[in-house]
Amino acid sequence: NLDAPTALAWLRAFAGLVDERAGELTDLDRPIGDSDHGVNLQRGMHAVVAAFDQETPETAGAVLTRAGSTLVSTVGGASGPLFGTLLRRAGKALDGGDLASALRAGLDGVVKLGGAQVGDATLVDALTPAVEALEAGRSLSEAAEAAARGAASTEPLVARKGRASYLGERGVGHRDPGAESVALLFTALAGAGA
Ligand code: ADP
Ligand code: MG
Ligand code: MG
Repeated sequence: NLDAPTALAWLRAFAGLVDERAGELTDLDRPIGDSDHGVNLQRGMHAVVAAFDQETPETAGAVLTRAGSTLVSTVGGASGPLFGTLLRRAGKALDGGDLASALRAGLDGVVKLGGAQVGDATLVDALTPAVEALEAGRSLSEAAEAAARGAASTEPLVARKGRASYLGERGVGHRDPGAESVALLFTALAGAGA
């Protein structure tokens, strides 16, 4: 199961990937949104790393909870409360539960908050198959592949939630930026090797 050092390595690796890919994430948000997704997540993950540097949480659950709360308070866009809820709910469920059920609790929180279902072209389209893969006992790399496929699956869809939904049919042909970020989150998890 996920221990505190691995959880820290996971989220630090995610912060690093967000740094590397911030330009791309913002470019994905350009045609269907307001060109800030990479910047939003980068600001939030810098604050998460700074919080860890200041005081290291002692359990894996506390690592995720701290990260989630930091994202909620530092990211103004939709992605702050959504990623924040994912990590906070997962963190609360983690100490005493396994990673798959913790991430399921996180996904449930995201769906409750944002109201998006699979097929609405949001980050839920990447998160859901990744959580399902872990629940089915598949490896972290398989979960990361499932998230990446889920992110790609948003391209032909009409978005039904978030800013992209304002575009209707004109949003077709564009990958959802938040779904791509969730794919990075699972790539980082697979790399940290929980
Ligand atoms: P904003 O749209 O406020 O500028 P970001 O650009 O940082 O925020 O994040 C946009 C991402 O948030 C979208 O790509 C999508 O994945 C996700 N998102 C937006 N609204 C919802 C929602 N209701 N449910 C799930 N995900 C959502
Ligand atoms: Mg945006
Ligand atoms: Mg915005």
